[in-house]
Amino acid sequence: MLNRLLALALTVMTLGQGVVAGFEDEMSLGGYLFLVNKDYRIAADYVPDDLVMPDVKRTSGSVMMRKEAARALEQMFEAAKEEKINLVAASGYRSYQTQRAIYNRRLKAAGKAHVDRFVALPGASEHQLGLAMDVTRPKTDGLSRSFGQTKEGQWLLKNCYRFGFILRYKEEWEDVTGYGYEPWHIRYVGAEHALRIQEWDVPFETYVEALRAAQGMTAEQKEAAE
Ligand SMILES: [Zn+2]
Repeated sequence: MLNRLLALALTVMTLGQGVVAGFEDEMSLGGYLFLVNKDYRIAADYVPDDLVMPDVKRTSGSVMMRKEAARALEQMFEAAKEEKINLVAASGYRSYQTQRAIYNRRLKAAGKAHVDRFVALPGASEHQLGLAMDVTRPKTDGLSRSFGQTKEGQWLLKNCYRFGFILRYKEEWEDVTGYGYEPWHIRYVGAEHALRIQEWDVPFETYVEALRAAQGMTAEQKEAAE
Protein backbone atom coordinates (compact mmCIF):
# COMPACT_ATOMS: atom_id res chain seq x y z
CA MET A 1 0.00 0.00 0.00
CA LEU A 2 2.80 2.43 0.88
CA ASN A 3 4.71 1.57 -2.28
CA ARG A 4 1.55 2.06 -4.29
CA LEU A 5 0.99 5.46 -2.71
CA LEU A 6 4.58 6.44 -3.39
CA ALA A 7 4.23 5.39 -7.02
CA LEU A 8 1.06 7.45 -7.38
CA ALA A 9 2.69 10.46 -5.74
CA LEU A 10 5.66 10.21 -8.09
CA THR A 11 3.25 10.11 -11.03
CA VAL A 12 1.58 13.27 -9.73
CA MET A 13 4.98 14.95 -9.43
CA THR A 14 5.61 14.53 -13.14
CA LEU A 15 2.88 17.14 -13.65
CA GLY A 16 5.35 19.73 -12.40
CA GLN A 17 5.76 21.78 -9.22
CA GLY A 18 3.42 24.56 -10.30
CA VAL A 19 0.55 22.20 -11.05
CA VAL A 20 1.07 20.22 -7.85
CA ALA A 21 1.15 23.41 -5.74
CA GLY A 22 -2.12 24.47 -7.39
CA PHE A 23 -3.90 21.42 -5.98
CA GLU A 24 -3.75 23.06 -2.54
CA ASP A 25 -6.60 25.43 -3.45
CA GLU A 26 -8.64 22.64 -4.99
CA MET A 27 -8.29 20.59 -1.82
CA SER A 28 -9.44 23.47 0.40
CA LEU A 29 -13.07 24.02 1.38
CA GLY A 30 -14.83 25.41 -1.68
CA GLY A 31 -12.48 23.53 -4.04
CA TYR A 32 -13.63 20.54 -6.06
CA LEU A 33 -11.15 18.21 -4.36
CA PHE A 34 -12.22 18.91 -0.79
CA LEU A 35 -12.29 15.59 1.07
CA VAL A 36 -15.19 14.82 3.39
CA ASN A 37 -15.57 11.57 5.28
CA LYS A 38 -15.81 10.24 8.82
CA ASP A 39 -12.42 11.75 9.68
CA TYR A 40 -12.77 15.02 7.81
CA ARG A 41 -15.93 16.92 8.68
CA ILE A 42 -17.48 20.15 7.42
CA ALA A 43 -18.61 22.95 9.73
CA ALA A 44 -22.35 22.99 10.47
CA ASP A 45 -22.78 26.43 8.94
CA TYR A 46 -21.06 25.69 5.62
CA VAL A 47 -23.40 26.32 2.70
CA PRO A 48 -22.01 26.59 -0.86
CA ASP A 49 -22.79 29.98 -2.38
CA ASP A 50 -23.39 28.83 -5.95
CA LEU A 51 -26.11 26.21 -5.62
CA VAL A 52 -28.43 25.82 -8.59
CA MET A 53 -31.06 23.35 -9.72
CA PRO A 54 -29.76 21.20 -12.58
CA ASP A 55 -32.17 20.87 -15.47
CA VAL A 56 -32.51 17.09 -15.32
CA LYS A 57 -35.17 14.52 -14.56
CA ARG A 58 -35.51 14.15 -10.79
CA THR A 59 -37.45 12.11 -8.29
CA SER A 60 -38.57 14.85 -5.94
CA GLY A 61 -38.78 18.60 -5.66
CA SER A 62 -35.43 20.07 -4.83
CA VAL A 63 -32.18 18.62 -6.15
CA MET A 64 -29.47 21.26 -5.94
CA MET A 65 -25.78 21.21 -6.81
CA ARG A 66 -23.00 23.72 -7.17
CA LYS A 67 -23.18 25.38 -10.56
CA GLU A 68 -20.24 23.70 -12.30
CA ALA A 69 -21.31 20.27 -11.05
CA ALA A 70 -24.91 20.92 -12.07
CA ARG A 71 -23.89 21.81 -15.64
CA ALA A 72 -21.73 18.66 -15.81
CA LEU A 73 -24.65 16.59 -14.55
CA GLU A 74 -26.91 18.00 -17.27
CA GLN A 75 -24.36 17.09 -19.92
CA MET A 76 -23.99 13.60 -18.51
CA PHE A 77 -27.74 12.93 -18.39
CA GLU A 78 -28.02 14.25 -21.96
CA ALA A 79 -25.21 11.97 -23.18
CA ALA A 80 -26.82 9.01 -21.41
CA LYS A 81 -30.16 9.75 -23.04
CA GLU A 82 -28.53 9.64 -26.47
CA GLU A 83 -27.59 6.06 -25.66
CA LYS A 84 -31.16 5.37 -24.47
CA ILE A 85 -30.12 5.37 -20.82
CA ASN A 86 -32.52 7.29 -18.61
CA LEU A 87 -30.98 8.62 -15.43
CA VAL A 88 -32.88 10.31 -12.62
CA ALA A 89 -31.45 12.60 -9.95
CA ALA A 90 -32.59 11.55 -6.49
CA SER A 91 -30.66 13.61 -3.94
CA GLY A 92 -28.17 16.46 -4.26
CA TYR A 93 -27.24 19.17 -1.78
CA ARG A 94 -28.25 18.58 1.83
CA SER A 95 -27.78 21.01 4.65
CA TYR A 96 -26.17 19.97 7.92
CA GLN A 97 -29.62 20.07 9.53
CA THR A 98 -31.18 17.88 6.84
CA GLN A 99 -28.37 15.35 7.18
CA ARG A 100 -28.88 15.30 10.95
CA ALA A 101 -32.59 14.62 10.49
CA ILE A 102 -31.88 11.81 8.00
CA TYR A 103 -29.27 10.31 10.29
CA ASN A 104 -31.55 10.30 13.31
CA ARG A 105 -34.46 8.88 11.34
CA ARG A 106 -32.39 6.05 9.86
CA LEU A 107 -30.77 5.33 13.22
CA LYS A 108 -34.20 4.82 14.74
CA ALA A 109 -35.48 2.74 11.82
CA ALA A 110 -32.44 0.62 10.94
CA GLY A 111 -30.09 0.71 13.93
CA LYS A 112 -26.49 1.69 14.63
CA ALA A 113 -24.75 -1.00 12.56
CA HIS A 114 -26.63 0.08 9.45
CA VAL A 115 -26.11 3.83 9.80
CA ASP A 116 -22.41 3.31 10.55
CA ARG A 117 -21.99 1.81 7.07
CA PHE A 118 -24.49 3.74 5.01
CA VAL A 119 -25.49 7.05 6.57
CA ALA A 120 -23.08 9.89 7.19
CA LEU A 121 -23.16 11.83 10.41
CA PRO A 122 -24.07 15.49 9.99
CA GLY A 123 -20.92 17.28 8.81
CA ALA A 124 -19.50 14.07 7.35
CA SER A 125 -21.59 14.00 4.19
CA GLU A 126 -20.36 15.05 0.76
CA HIS A 127 -23.91 16.08 0.02
CA GLN A 128 -23.33 19.16 2.19
CA LEU A 129 -20.64 20.23 -0.32
CA GLY A 130 -23.18 20.43 -3.13
CA LEU A 131 -20.86 18.20 -5.17
CA ALA A 132 -22.57 14.84 -4.68
CA MET A 133 -25.62 13.38 -6.39
CA ASP A 134 -27.50 10.16 -5.84
CA VAL A 135 -28.53 8.87 -9.25
CA THR A 136 -31.16 6.29 -9.98
CA ARG A 137 -33.39 5.07 -12.81
CA PRO A 138 -37.05 5.73 -13.62
CA LYS A 139 -39.76 3.87 -11.76
CA THR A 140 -37.75 2.52 -8.85
CA ASP A 141 -38.48 3.05 -5.23
CA GLY A 142 -35.48 4.24 -3.35
CA LEU A 143 -31.79 3.55 -3.83
CA SER A 144 -30.56 -0.01 -3.75
CA ARG A 145 -27.41 -1.97 -4.42
CA SER A 146 -29.09 -3.72 -7.34
CA PHE A 147 -28.84 -0.42 -9.24
CA GLY A 148 -25.19 -1.34 -9.86
CA GLN A 149 -26.32 -4.29 -12.01
CA THR A 150 -28.81 -2.34 -14.12
CA LYS A 151 -27.87 -0.87 -17.49
CA GLU A 152 -28.19 2.60 -15.96
CA GLY A 153 -25.86 1.71 -13.08
CA GLN A 154 -23.34 0.14 -15.45
CA TRP A 155 -23.42 3.17 -17.73
CA LEU A 156 -22.82 5.48 -14.77
CA LEU A 157 -19.87 3.39 -13.55
CA LYS A 158 -18.21 3.43 -16.98
CA ASN A 159 -18.97 6.96 -18.10
CA CYS A 160 -19.32 9.38 -15.19
CA TYR A 161 -15.60 10.26 -15.22
CA ARG A 162 -16.04 11.78 -18.70
CA PHE A 163 -18.13 14.48 -17.06
CA GLY A 164 -15.95 15.02 -14.01
CA PHE A 165 -17.68 12.62 -11.62
CA ILE A 166 -16.36 9.64 -9.69
CA LEU A 167 -18.18 6.72 -8.14
CA ARG A 168 -17.31 7.35 -4.53
CA TYR A 169 -18.16 4.11 -2.72
CA LYS A 170 -17.17 0.95 -4.52
CA GLU A 171 -17.61 -2.34 -2.72
CA GLU A 172 -13.88 -3.12 -2.56
CA TRP A 173 -13.07 0.27 -1.03
CA GLU A 174 -15.18 0.03 2.12
CA ASP A 175 -12.12 -0.26 4.40
CA VAL A 176 -10.77 3.00 3.03
CA THR A 177 -13.92 5.07 2.51
CA GLY A 178 -15.66 3.87 5.66
CA TYR A 179 -18.92 3.34 3.78
CA GLY A 180 -20.62 0.38 2.15
CA TYR A 181 -21.19 -0.02 -1.59
CA GLU A 182 -23.31 2.77 -3.06
CA PRO A 183 -23.51 2.40 -6.85
CA TRP A 184 -25.78 5.46 -7.01
CA HIS A 185 -23.56 8.03 -5.26
CA ILE A 186 -21.35 10.15 -7.52
CA ARG A 187 -19.09 13.02 -6.54
CA TYR A 188 -17.92 15.86 -8.75
CA VAL A 189 -14.14 16.44 -8.79
CA GLY A 190 -13.70 17.96 -12.27
CA ALA A 191 -12.77 16.18 -15.50
CA GLU A 192 -8.98 16.16 -15.10
CA HIS A 193 -9.05 14.51 -11.70
CA ALA A 194 -11.94 12.20 -12.52
CA LEU A 195 -9.99 10.84 -15.49
CA ARG A 196 -6.92 10.17 -13.35
CA ILE A 197 -8.96 8.56 -10.57
CA GLN A 198 -10.71 6.37 -13.16
CA GLU A 199 -7.37 5.30 -14.64
CA TRP A 200 -5.84 4.57 -11.26
CA ASP A 201 -9.06 3.03 -9.96
CA VAL A 202 -8.44 4.20 -6.40
CA PRO A 203 -10.73 5.63 -3.70
CA PHE A 204 -10.84 9.41 -3.44
CA GLU A 205 -9.08 9.16 -0.06
CA THR A 206 -6.08 7.51 -1.71
CA TYR A 207 -6.05 10.07 -4.50
CA VAL A 208 -6.00 13.00 -2.09
CA GLU A 209 -3.31 11.26 -0.04
CA ALA A 210 -1.18 10.88 -3.18
CA LEU A 211 -1.59 14.58 -4.01
CA ARG A 212 -0.58 15.53 -0.48
CA ALA A 213 2.44 13.23 -0.62
CA ALA A 214 3.46 14.76 -3.95
CA GLN A 215 3.15 18.22 -2.44
CA GLY A 216 5.38 17.21 0.43
CA MET A 217 7.95 15.84 -1.99
CA THR A 218 7.97 18.87 -4.23
CA ALA A 219 8.36 21.13 -1.18
CA GLU A 220 11.39 19.06 -0.14
CA GLN A 221 12.81 19.20 -3.65
CA LYS A 222 12.37 22.95 -3.73
CA GLU A 223 14.17 23.31 -0.41
CA ALA A 224 16.99 21.08 -1.58
CA ALA A 225 17.37 23.15 -4.73
CA GLU A 226 17.54 26.43 -2.83
ZN1 LIG B 1 -25.27 10.00 -1.70
